[in-house]
Amino acid sequence: MDSILVVNAGSSSVKFQVFVIEGEGTLRRLIKGQVDGIGSRPRLRASGAGSDPMADRAYPVEAIPDVPAAMNVAGEWLRNEVRIHPMAVGHRVVHGGPDYDRPVLVDHGVVARLERFVALAPLHQPHNLAPIRSILANFPTVPQVACFDTAFHRTHGPLADHYAIPHQLHAEGVRRYGFHGLSYEYISRTLPQTAPEIAERRVIVAHLGSGASMCAMKGGQSVESTMGFTALDGLPMGTRPGQLDPGVVLYLMSEKGMTASKVQDFLYRDCGLKGLSGVSNDMRELEASTDPQAKLAVDYFVYRIGLNAGMLAAALQGVDAFVFTAGIGENSSGIRARVAAHLGWLGAALDATANARHARLISTKNSRIPVCVIPTDEELMIAQHTLSLLMNGQSPNPRHERVS
Ligand code: AMP
Repeated sequence: MDSILVVNAGSSSVKFQVFVIEGEGTLRRLIKGQVDGIGSRPRLRASGAGSDPMADRAYPVEAIPDVPAAMNVAGEWLRNEVRIHPMAVGHRVVHGGPDYDRPVLVDHGVVARLERFVALAPLHQPHNLAPIRSILANFPTVPQVACFDTAFHRTHGPLADHYAIPHQLHAEGVRRYGFHGLSYEYISRTLPQTAPEIAERRVIVAHLGSGASMCAMKGGQSVESTMGFTALDGLPMGTRPGQLDPGVVLYLMSEKGMTASKVQDFLYRDCGLKGLSGVSNDMRELEASTDPQAKLAVDYFVYRIGLNAGMLAAALQGVDAFVFTAGIGENSSGIRARVAAHLGWLGAALDATANARHARLISTKNSRIPVCVIPTDEELMIAQHTLSLLMNGQSPNPRHERVS
């Protein structure tokens, strides 16, 4: 059985999925799993495609102190117990910097180039690269493909790509990259089948999960995004503030005596919905809470989505459709209803019944713009890129590939 392993490694967890390659290069998801609690309470959990449990076991903390150890445990389980020997491994890598506008087959040279972007995504990039390095060392003949969250946005024009800072910094890589690109690429690829009438038009996609951003797409390509140099900018998120005056960072350092690494931790871990509410970073808890600060956090989230929709509408010079995706976008009818109310001036009219049952089209017949809910699938996107690179030696125009 030919299969592809997809790996998404973060600071405290390694998520993995296995896809079987079927006839004519169609992919079927076989296993979903993760090793989480790395360095604290490690646990391996895995299930089959139909959510049937396959493994759930705890490990002593010293058995899985870091990402490479977690990768080893997941790999041993797959090889020795499930008899999976993937023919290739696809990795989510958050930052491809200015160089990479598509996925790439990895070798030691590519890893060295990707190392340069650690400073641009210090909390993600090192963990993304760790399993690549350990597989290169232990299984040097297994092809590995790096798929970037920035790549889909490399179609941005120079105006969207720049900050108003001296050119030298732009040349060094201080640019507005945009993130969640694998999610947006999946949506872009899916639209020709699910909503062909809007696929080539001006679409705003809202990826609303624990990380959140929005993307303006025209003809299936990204023209603008709410995220910039790092995954901190734009919308408020679970624990990140979104757009913030850089003066706040100066204040934290000069008046609060915070070091750069303290500020970094603060901005990535203690702000956003968690910081503003003082209750939780989880939208479900905030929606259920009667705490006024929780209400403020939810109101702020919705308000900022509305503001950013206006910005992206200006970049597109109009909007023909709006798409919700990711954890909150796919599951919270309440947030969708409130965001849609903010989009009324753009012509969105929500069908409350369709919204309540999470239908694919949640706008009324008379809505000037269709409003859709499309579940994202970044792992399938990575598996498809990996297979394309294996079969063709390159990643072709992804909009012409099959989605299975
Ligand atoms: P993601 O990062 O895409 O997995 O999304 C995680 C976010 O989705 C968390 O903030 C969850 O609280 C949120 N979420 C998941 N299910 C629901 C739901 N039914 N209602 C509201 N938020 C949800």
